[in-house]
Amino acid sequence: MTKQDVFDAYNHYIMPTYTKMPYIFVKGKGMKLYDLAGREYLDFFPGWGVGNVGHCHPAVLSAVRHQVGKLIHLPNNFYHPSQGKLAAEIIRHSFDGKVFFSNSGAEANEAAIKLCRAYGAADGSNRYEIITFESAFHGRTLATVTATGQKKYQKGFEPLVEGFRTNLPLNDFRALSDAVSDKTVAVMMEVVQGEGGIHVASPDFVGRVRKLCDERKMLLIIDEVQTGMGRTGKMFGYQHYGVTPDMITLAKSLGGGLPIGCMVARREIADTLQPGMHASTFGGSPIVCRAALGVFRAIQKDKMLSHATQMGAYLTAKLLALKKECPVVKEVRGLGLMIGVELSIKGKAVVEKCLEQGLLINCTHETVLRLMPALNVTKKQADAALKILESVLREAVEMSANCFRVSPPEAEKK
Ligand SMILES: *Cc1c(COP(=O)(O)O)cnc(C)c1O
Repeated sequence: MTKQDVFDAYNHYIMPTYTKMPYIFVKGKGMKLYDLAGREYLDFFPGWGVGNVGHCHPAVLSAVRHQVGKLIHLPNNFYHPSQGKLAAEIIRHSFDGKVFFSNSGAEANEAAIKLCRAYGAADGSNRYEIITFESAFHGRTLATVTATGQKKYQKGFEPLVEGFRTNLPLNDFRALSDAVSDKTVAVMMEVVQGEGGIHVASPDFVGRVRKLCDERKMLLIIDEVQTGMGRTGKMFGYQHYGVTPDMITLAKSLGGGLPIGCMVARREIADTLQPGMHASTFGGSPIVCRAALGVFRAIQKDKMLSHATQMGAYLTAKLLALKKECPVVKEVRGLGLMIGVELSIKGKAVVEKCLEQGLLINCTHETVLRLMPALNVTKKQADAALKILESVLREAVEMSANCFRVSPPEAEKK
């Protein structure tokens, strides 16, 4: 297949749900991606948050290779050692509870939403409403896109699912406590909003949310789909906050590139979901569970949590230094290796120009560059990426070209 054949096949046969960039990648190893012509790229946004241990990590490869010749799929009515082992590993790193396996982040959140509703029904209070926050992202299924609350993801798909109170301002405790009603059963949040532009929840706020949930017997769900598995320098993002949630949801990086999602619930509420109440045909199949065990092993063996903390501080310091010199950089924020760089110019052209120079990054919310390299990124790789980013941003300042200009607020797609 030539390059053009590939583009043609997509144009003709694949629904155009994604904005695409004209690159074809065929190989990945650690921090590197390789295109059809064998050109190497530094991947500072592996798989939209999937690649915490990098592309094709040896621990994931050997786990998958080991399993694939033995048994690929097993219905969830039977037992498999790997699923039990992975569940125990997840609990060992989080809090005492039980897990439900799915295949994606949206499905993990769906499971959490269903557990909340079942909990509200079972305790006789008939509470069902779930509160979410402005700039949240919880997925694209109807319930999770409702929870997400952002109009740009909902337009055209109405009517939405009932029972959500969305778009509460993050870090505004007063607004939250005012929004709680006798129908509210849960609060669902990310401690660092990923898609929403790397907004970090404040420790004071999260602490007060936990307290409020205790007082009102509401469940606190932390969506760790993007922040989980070491991304912020701790295994899970909530662990920076000195609170224990009632539920967390995981996906993205959990399977090292293979599709797996997971909802974890505190032991006292986990048995709310009884046989027949929820299911997933593929959820937690032997291969993805082995892969996820490989991810946990890689994070521990290579001491990726402390390394991510160090490298997060290193990159952030360098970006803050760049901010001093480069007037288009407005703010640098994040936690660990989940870093946002807010620009006064449009980020799309910056992303494109970085790619031309062999660096893959992301832009979200029009002006926020997102850097989320693998947790084992080296200083040398960080310096190389910063060099490219800096040159592109300097060029943007000099050119002040049209492609970098931010559209006026009224034209912004919401
Ligand atoms: C990506 C993401 C999701 C959705 O995950 P999918 O696997 O794409 O369904 C949910 N929540 C957060 C915080 C995410 O970043």
